[in-house]
Amino acid sequence: EYLLAIESSCDETAAAVITRDMRILSNVVSSQTDLHKKFGGVVPEIASRAHLERILPVIDDALKQAGITLNQLTAIAVATEPGLVGSLLIGLTAAKTLAMTLDLPLIAVNHIEGHLFACQMQETRPLFPAIGLVVSGGHTNLYHCSESFEFKLIGATIDDAAGEAFDKVAKILGLPYPGGPSIQKTAAQGNPKAFPFPRTFLKDPELRFSFSGLKTAVLYAALGNPGAKQQPPPLTEDRIADLAASFQETVVDVLVGKCRQALEQHHYSTLCVGGGVAANALLRERLAEMTDKAGAYFSIAPPDLCTDNAAMAAIAWHHLDQGRVASLDLDVTPGLVR
Ligand code: ATP
Ligand code: MG
Ligand code: FE
Repeated sequence: EYLLAIESSCDETAAAVITRDMRILSNVVSSQTDLHKKFGGVVPEIASRAHLERILPVIDDALKQAGITLNQLTAIAVATEPGLVGSLLIGLTAAKTLAMTLDLPLIAVNHIEGHLFACQMQETRPLFPAIGLVVSGGHTNLYHCSESFEFKLIGATIDDAAGEAFDKVAKILGLPYPGGPSIQKTAAQGNPKAFPFPRTFLKDPELRFSFSGLKTAVLYAALGNPGAKQQPPPLTEDRIADLAASFQETVVDVLVGKCRQALEQHHYSTLCVGGGVAANALLRERLAEMTDKAGAYFSIAPPDLCTDNAAMAAIAWHHLDQGRVASLDLDVTPGLVR
């Protein structure tokens, strides 16, 4: 049995074919990074236009690489929330059209739940119950993940998402978009202790995050505080590397600390982590160390399943088993809060 999954929530046009036993037969991702690069962030209008041009070739590619035809499909899954409204609509329209013409069940997937499910896909045994952390461009959320794939929000950022902070700090430092990979690369040359940036809420008993103060701290350290008498030294390559390394270290410290706190507070012994920032090498290393010490089981998706992809929408198999099939009047839910 074959599931065709479609993802277009932000700036990746993606399609994948996944078998019922969770084998990924194809996972095609067409990233629009080059289109948005010069703006330093995703431009919604450009994104939806690019999705429209790419969606059919990407679906075609996914089927070809999987070595199957449309007639062999069992169901169509599509990410309908959260994301950019114009982007989501392109994937949804493609999915609806295929479901209607092929007379197949249409299954709506939550993109953030998909980011967590990416962890389950590499496991041979059920991963949940677990504490789940989603660290992405738009979210920094902690969840209770239940055996029956219900996700309950237990903590979140009060301002910027972790990925958003990576992207904005990269912009401040003059590093290329997207910020995550370029900060990781530059940080390798820097001293992570050079700048003692604030670890906001690290010691706070509540499960919450804040990254906007950190972003401002990097801005002032890099380019100066308009209110201060003394201005910082010129932004040399060495200084940029130190700033990038110190920033990355700070974000990782906070994320690891909050995951440890969530495991303790909620008496869980499994942690799963997904979303684009989960591709970060330092975060992966530190989370592995922390869970090892805490005696917890740790599951983190391989890097290509952390950033946006359609394979993670395979959670749709579970929705199908539970009869959670959508009708053709299915709509998108762009809103960020769930
Ligand atoms: P959301 O999933 O919240 O809707 P999104 O889909 O745009 O947002 P993802 O594609 O999941 O976000 O993740 C993209 C983010 O991940 C970007 O902010 C990017 O900078 C960040 N990112 C990617 N690779 C790395 C890395 N190696 N280190 C840190 N951050 C990274
Ligand atoms: Mg993206
Ligand atoms: Fe995402």
